[in-house]
Amino acid sequence: MTTNRQALEAATRVFPGGVNSPVRAFGAVGGDPLFMVRGAGARVTDLEGKTYLDYVGSWGPLILGHADPDVVKAVSAAAERGTTFGAPTLAETELAEEIREAFPAMEKMRLVSSGTEATMSAIRLARGVTGRPLIVKFDGCYHGHADSLLVAAGSGVATLGLPGCPGVPESIAANTLVVPFNDRKAVEKVFETHGTKIAAVIVEPVCGNMGVVTPLKGYLADLRKLTRDAGALLIFDEVMTGFRACFGGVSQLEGVTPDLTCLGKVVGGGLPLAVYGGKAKIMAHVAPEGKVYQAGTLSGNPVAVAAGLATLRKIRGNPAFYPTLLKTTEKLCAGLEEAARKYRIAIHLNRFGSMFTVFFAKETVIDFKTAKTADTRMFARFFRGMLEKGVYLPPSQFEAAFVSAAHTDEDVAYTIGAAQQVFETMR
Ligand SMILES: *Cc1c(COP(=O)(O)O)cnc(C)c1O
Repeated sequence: MTTNRQALEAATRVFPGGVNSPVRAFGAVGGDPLFMVRGAGARVTDLEGKTYLDYVGSWGPLILGHADPDVVKAVSAAAERGTTFGAPTLAETELAEEIREAFPAMEKMRLVSSGTEATMSAIRLARGVTGRPLIVKFDGCYHGHADSLLVAAGSGVATLGLPGCPGVPESIAANTLVVPFNDRKAVEKVFETHGTKIAAVIVEPVCGNMGVVTPLKGYLADLRKLTRDAGALLIFDEVMTGFRACFGGVSQLEGVTPDLTCLGKVVGGGLPLAVYGGKAKIMAHVAPEGKVYQAGTLSGNPVAVAAGLATLRKIRGNPAFYPTLLKTTEKLCAGLEEAARKYRIAIHLNRFGSMFTVFFAKETVIDFKTAKTADTRMFARFFRGMLEKGVYLPPSQFEAAFVSAAHTDEDVAYTIGAAQQVFETMR
């Protein structure tokens, strides 16, 4: 039998750090990453034959769980008809109509293959439309790894504690202004100083990539007003939050409409697909209608579109989908909080819809600065303890865990029981 250790050794000979995305490494928690061979519903099985209850969910896409039969059927059928044409297909329009049903402000959109591509294209469009150079982003928000956005970034960048990124020229980084999340005065100040040069503010309206951090009341509306008054665009990066709490995103729940929205993860149903879109007048600047160029050989790929369409249709077809998913998540979170209280472990649990983070922090986490007060060694102990009990969490304090529709009340009860046992050893 090949062990995870042996698989990692072989992988390390061909991949930097043995992985194809840094967040998959276990550097922050210790031990070897699990090499997966199979997923079914809420469970994954690694190559050592161990099965785990999965709260990583491929980092967000798998809201229906692994290998959902309807998604698999749609994917197989699409693959049999031909995996790619480089020509338009009807299903792309059907998917776009489904997306617009959920995000009416995405009057027109463009399908791409990754969240990185969506945000990168959205800020290019914002610069193209406004003729301005500067982008405002928030400390600890992650918008993929395009040069302009890889400044003070969250996710793996935060996990590794990297200050900046070699390879991103100073001249590019200088066009990205970084302010703390949830600090209205800080954004106002940036607009006072640079207002006429700011093309866009890009934000995770609920952050997931410094761990889950929700906006303070009125904060997103403030961003909306500030950008509108300054003639800058507001971009909601809902790659993670889209379809996580409702058939829509934070924009619907908070009643704030951005100019552009980026989606990914759930919208691709577990295949590489993402989207950016917004007001028709703005999207008219995208080639070939307009002059802002953006293209992709595999954009709107038929197999990925089939997975996305099957996922969204399944969700929309079930009125009980979100109420059930949210109730499951609430139960889990309440159980984890109670277990921590019982064993006097200081945690702050942040949740949005079906995503959550257990911060081992003494204070409320409202931005990246407070997120960083969390005790990452305590998190690592929690992570390893849970893994030993067969519960697979994201291997970093600064990430969101995901609950899927495949997680049952029994799974939740098991997870809470495991957490109690682990917390007891952590006192
Ligand atoms: C995951 C994520 C991205 C990047 O998407 P990729 O498909 O990994 O390129 C961008 N923004 C947010 C908010 C994300 O969570």
